[in-house]
Amino acid sequence: RTPVIRTALIGDGIGPSLTPPLHEREGGELGLDYTYERVDLSGQDGVDLGAVLEDLEARGFAAANVTHPYKQRVLAHVDETSEEVRRIGSANLILLGGRRVAHNTDCTGFRAGLESFLGTRPRGRVLQVGAGGAGLATAYSLLGMGFAEVVIHDLDPAAADALVDRYASVSGDSRLRSSGGGLDRLLGEVDGVVHVTPVGMAEHPGTAFAPEDLAAGAWVSEVVYRPLETELLRRAAAAGHPVLDGGLMAVGQAADSIALITGREPDRERMLAHFLEL
Ligand code: NAD
Repeated sequence: RTPVIRTALIGDGIGPSLTPPLHEREGGELGLDYTYERVDLSGQDGVDLGAVLEDLEARGFAAANVTHPYKQRVLAHVDETSEEVRRIGSANLILLGGRRVAHNTDCTGFRAGLESFLGTRPRGRVLQVGAGGAGLATAYSLLGMGFAEVVIHDLDPAAADALVDRYASVSGDSRLRSSGGGLDRLLGEVDGVVHVTPVGMAEHPGTAFAPEDLAAGAWVSEVVYRPLETELLRRAAAAGHPVLDGGLMAVGQAADSIALITGREPDRERMLAHFLEL
């Protein structure tokens, strides 16, 4: 008999999340007895995350993904952290049962998706728009991918500056810098843009910048995945720019989580096909 692998997602308002069906279907495809439960903590005051993890451990859970607003707070309750977690300062996966080990598969999942999209395109100058929680993970990935220059822009210049300060010692030189608030000239000067703000979701319609202002051939990578085709991607594609939607990152974080939890390599193509059906 295959042992049951019990996993969970901890967060607020996670009812609509596509991660549970993604995990369960792929676990089944791998021949595992794999369950993935939602632990929705919304509306609870003074959540004791340590107690939530202890409860899951007592019930035999192997791991928990962690999402908004607990990705940073959860670090106070783990025994070990991966290199990415230490640098980024947040985690989205905790392996349980014995020592609790924190990982950040948003970072590794984003990177895998962007690498496959870029192929042999040069890793030149990239602009990242958005310096919030997800932006910390994507910027760390961009630095690890060897871009010659990574420029960070945010509506809130202090957020961009804080991100740059955090990673100053990773880039070790002037590869990472803040936009200083100005986008107009930058857009015509970069090889690609990573968009990491909520703009483009139903609650935040519009675009954070005009893709028509990009230089010919510049690519656009989007992290928003609901909807999969944002206004940004639609307009960028119409203007002839290569585009990558947020689906590969969403699938990548789930696939990397499954690999860490089970020690088995999930089929990423199969997971992407499933994701597109959901
Ligand atoms: P956040 O609220 O922590 O940060 C958003 C940042 O964007 C803030 O710093 C804000 O000042 C900035 N911003 C907002 N509007 C802007 C604009 N018009 N121009 C420039 N900057 C602007 O949010 P987050 O956790 O970083 O998440 C951002 C988005 O990333 C989410 O909405 C979600 O769709 C997406 N996301 C996708 C995945 C995935 O797997 N594909 C994973 C995580 C997050």
